[in-house]
Amino acid sequence: MSRKRERREQRWQGVAASDGLAAGRVLRVHSGARQSIYRIKLEANEVEREVRRYRAAVRLSRRQLLALKKRAERALGDEHAYIFDAHLLMLEDRKLNEDVEAVIRSERVGSEWAVKVVTDRLLAVYEEIKDDYLRERSSDIEDVTRRLLIALSGESMHGRHLTEDAVIVAEELMPSTIAELDFKHIKAVATDVGGWTSHTAIIARGLGIPAVVGLRDFYRAARTGDTIIIDARTGEVVLHPAPATFEHYSAERPTGAEASARATASEDLRKPLRTRDGVEVTLRANVELPVEYEWVNRYGARGIGLFRSEFLLSHRGALPDEEEQCAAYEELARIAGHEGVAVRVFDLGGDKATATRLDAGEERNPALGLRAIRFCLQREDVLRPQVRAVLRAAARGRVDLVLPMISDITDVRRARRVVEEERARLKEEGREVGRVRVGAMIEVPSAVLVAEKLAREVDFFSLGTNDLVQYTLAVDRGNDEVAGWFRSLHPAVLQSVRRALDAARGAGIPAIVCGEMAASPAYAAVLVGLGARELSMAPTSIPRVRRTIAGLEEKEVAGLARECLDCATADDVEEIVRVRLGGRWPNLFPPETLPPPKSRG
Ligand code: PEP
Ligand code: MG
Repeated sequence: MSRKRERREQRWQGVAASDGLAAGRVLRVHSGARQSIYRIKLEANEVEREVRRYRAAVRLSRRQLLALKKRAERALGDEHAYIFDAHLLMLEDRKLNEDVEAVIRSERVGSEWAVKVVTDRLLAVYEEIKDDYLRERSSDIEDVTRRLLIALSGESMHGRHLTEDAVIVAEELMPSTIAELDFKHIKAVATDVGGWTSHTAIIARGLGIPAVVGLRDFYRAARTGDTIIIDARTGEVVLHPAPATFEHYSAERPTGAEASARATASEDLRKPLRTRDGVEVTLRANVELPVEYEWVNRYGARGIGLFRSEFLLSHRGALPDEEEQCAAYEELARIAGHEGVAVRVFDLGGDKATATRLDAGEERNPALGLRAIRFCLQREDVLRPQVRAVLRAAARGRVDLVLPMISDITDVRRARRVVEEERARLKEEGREVGRVRVGAMIEVPSAVLVAEKLAREVDFFSLGTNDLVQYTLAVDRGNDEVAGWFRSLHPAVLQSVRRALDAARGAGIPAIVCGEMAASPAYAAVLVGLGARELSMAPTSIPRVRRTIAGLEEKEVAGLARECLDCATADDVEEIVRVRLGGRWPNLFPPETLPPPKSRG
């Protein structure tokens, strides 16, 4: 039944999420979460072959577990390797395997479906169990299920065996998957879903890795080992490139992280940054992955303006405990120095849904669902250890706390109450705690509309323009089909930014802009014009934004911002920005950094 695979050159168009060009070999990576499992009906003569396929997947999973166990024994000692025994026992469980095979035979369905039916039944039984410890064991079942499903799909679990020229191809990369990939060996990334501000895009830009997202059905077309070219300048992906195509691309210069790193060597990144007319602007770092930690100082960031703590989750969605978090935050505070680190509480849910254990199940409308602060307030067992870890780490360095997706001041008050309760409890326990400033992310229109009142309840604002655009314009930031409606320069977005900045200034609190807008030279210029004095971005973006801001005059960009605020449409704003910035400072704003001219029809 095997069909011969198409090897002819195929061209795919997606959304360019970062710059650069790369050629390499596909490494398909399973996202691990949100896997769709279909009920595939089999012909009578296919059933026994399916049973054999299931048994082979069990054998493969077993081999993987044994190898993992050995590795864990070597690295951590026997007592830590027992966890794999539980998984091995489950895989070897006669009843489980007989049940799966019985479903395949009686319902004549594919193995994936049969595994899901049987393990769902098992999980339902565990849900009923009163004993906390036993109920917790359900995560073992989920883990083994996931392993089996991945073995059935023939994929690598984390893409651990990366070759030097690996191009990651995935349906979607979850923060927990990204956190486990070794980006040193990754040449490029291509995903089926995503837009300019999706996580894959943010991470790839931060690491200087070429990335194309929003490729729809590409994951199904590519196979591990296929040759591939990723042109992140145009959003084009070429699978099985013909020799002539290869030649055409190899004539071009590779770009990416090293190129931008080299360009910064001579600059004095330590000096305060001022516009030509003397207005000081502070640039901080957005940090997600450990590889970026050392870049905070290399690129001259003044502290860490945003640490997206959800990147601490492991691939299986397990949360780090209080001790692990405390160690991580202390390390970040050490790197950040006296400027400190702003730790955002886990922003889970929405497009950041993560693997099984924390998944609140399928939501109809996840971006409007149990995400970020809502999830944390609902799951105090998640929030409280994080707050404790931040309070403890703050005794050793400057650590602040950021509350994401605030839509109502009540959420701030509830979270602050948790902070105070945990502070008191830690003191009772005789532990040292430090001062922690609490800030609100401004990324939902309702927060903008009550910004003046909200500013009196927090110590600082953190403007998340990625979500502010998404929620103000009602446009899914991860959906390439509506990428054309994702307009960061929409007058409504600019009005919101202006109002939030004014409210912060009125209340005498700092405001930092940490969405992707801050990392783009033209947008950063508009933000400075709107009154932003602190911007936070991927460390690798700092040199370019620094050069831009140092070369412009605040008075002029303030005038430009006023004109933009008066516009009726995003098109009008883009046109003004393109003409004014490109005309006044052509060396600071080469055409590729400006909105493209609209073809008027
Ligand atoms: C934002 O929304 O702009 C932001 C900074 O946070 P995230 O991209 O993680 O949602
Ligand atoms: Mg956000």
